[in-house]
Amino acid sequence: MRKPLLAANWKMNQTVAESFAWLEEFDRIGGDVLETDEVDAVFCPPFTALYEMHQGIEQHKMDIELGAQDIFWQEAGAFTGEISPAMLKECGVSYVICGHSERRQLLQESSAMVSKKCAAALKAGITPILCVGESQSVHDGGLTQQWLEAQLYESMGFWDNETEFVVAYEPIWAIGTGNAATAEDAEAACLAIREYLRERGGDVADKIRILYGGSVTAANAAELLACPNVDGALVGGASLKADAFADICRAAFKTR
Ligand code: PEP
Repeated sequence: MRKPLLAANWKMNQTVAESFAWLEEFDRIGGDVLETDEVDAVFCPPFTALYEMHQGIEQHKMDIELGAQDIFWQEAGAFTGEISPAMLKECGVSYVICGHSERRQLLQESSAMVSKKCAAALKAGITPILCVGESQSVHDGGLTQQWLEAQLYESMGFWDNETEFVVAYEPIWAIGTGNAATAEDAEAACLAIREYLRERGGDVADKIRILYGGSVTAANAAELLACPNVDGALVGGASLKADAFADICRAAFKTR
């Protein structure tokens, strides 16, 4: 049985003060879910809030993990604007989102770069959340499975076919649109991802958590999370509200 993982991706939102307010509210209204130990929750604020949030988690003794939204593959050096694995570790980061479609599209991040980021994260003891997902036209053309297999192949040069990490299936057409995938489509895509992992890694595929992401809300979370191969969610917009994210965590808890 895979424990559900709920990850909040705040993108370029929330100042340090706003992040702190979110954390305190989540502790107040979502603390009951965390205490059950039936779900893992991780939140990914902007880099600028990581250190303060790390201290906030310790101060409130919260059972919530801290994630980053990106990482660079070099350890140090002349890489203006980048953040190293060690810098993230120092801030208490245990997960990192790699290859989000916004970075792939807006910043031309290639699958080869994504693979290097995942490798660097694992080397530092940080679990990568590798994002993959198809465009509207690929979806409409019925080519989702082929797209996912190719994108996984290209983004997973880092994988030794053994190490556990996290995959997030995020159809681009569902991100930030309010148009979430149906439970049927999400399950089919997550199953295809698991089969790809199984082909390469055998039984470890059953331990790897595969998340769905794309317009997840408190209203649709239960149906999506009830799918056998959907092991959690990567949540953007809805995670900015502590009460909505707590409800999504609760929905995951109820489906088990
Ligand atoms: C995301 O950014 O990863 C995401 C899934 O966003 P949203 O939930 O807003 O669609």
